Amino acid sequence: MLTEINGLHHVTTIGSDPRAIDGFWTGTLGLRRVKKTVNFDAPDIYHLYYGDDLGRPGTAMTYFPFPGAAPGRRGTGEVAEVRLAIPQGAAPFWADRLGTGVSADPFGAPAVAVFAPDGDAFLLVESDDPRPAATAAVAPDRAIRGFHSVAAVLRDTAGTADLLRLMGYRETARDGAATRFAIDGGRAGAVDLIARPDAPDARQGAGSVHHIAFSVDTRARQLDVRTALTDHGFDVTPVIDRDYFWAIYFRSPGGILFEIATDEPGFDRDEPPETLGTALKLPARHEHLRDRLEKQLVPLDAGR
Ligand code: ZN
Repeated sequence: MLTEINGLHHVTTIGSDPRAIDGFWTGTLGLRRVKKTVNFDAPDIYHLYYGDDLGRPGTAMTYFPFPGAAPGRRGTGEVAEVRLAIPQGAAPFWADRLGTGVSADPFGAPAVAVFAPDGDAFLLVESDDPRPAATAAVAPDRAIRGFHSVAAVLRDTAGTADLLRLMGYRETARDGAATRFAIDGGRAGAVDLIARPDAPDARQGAGSVHHIAFSVDTRARQLDVRTALTDHGFDVTPVIDRDYFWAIYFRSPGGILFEIATDEPGFDRDEPPETLGTALKLPARHEHLRDRLEKQLVPLDAGR
């Protein structure tokens, strides 16, 4: 069993309208935009990152907004819901703010469901998460802390459960079709596996989670994880430089794309903490596209 993995690092979802996404995360949920860059593999579209004041691992929600993207279809083989931690007693505040009601997560914790602009499902879950408020945009006794968990919907959960055990997760709760896996002392985010043997396959599109990333401290630890995964038969990419972290990717048995991302170097690598997320940042190999991209990408802060 691996001991290098800390929990979730980031979650990346496909979107359509970057301004709507930006308004939802910074306005409605009160997180901070910590990086405005482009999809390194498709630089004509943004890659937008939201999180706490520094976009710390375990708080970073990211989007690939493809303007006009067709909506995805929910089903098996995907992360169908991302949960964010809020303090105990904060659910009624969020229900009121979002114009909805208080429900519960699969294990009974008070929670508030909310959909982002592309229909991607989020649940704000009350928990004892010890992290401070992500930002000062919402009162500290109510503000989001970071990821609480993700819910993976799978036709057959056995292979993914084995993978999570290899990665250092342990089953901590089970209720009906839902099984929760967490890392003892883990910093952020459980993984719930939801068995839906008869549901159709998901179809990826706007509002679909593209991949989930797990945190390791350093590049050395990432290489240890890569070796272990390869030894267990997983087809893992080489290490890829994402400027703000190093990444490796592999497909989990249930079909969900997993990434292992380093905590180093972080989002303040190329701009000061005070102004994170304001200027368009491009990786060196796309810098020659700047003039065109600055004109082509829809401005995010116009009219605010
Ligand atoms: Zn990623």
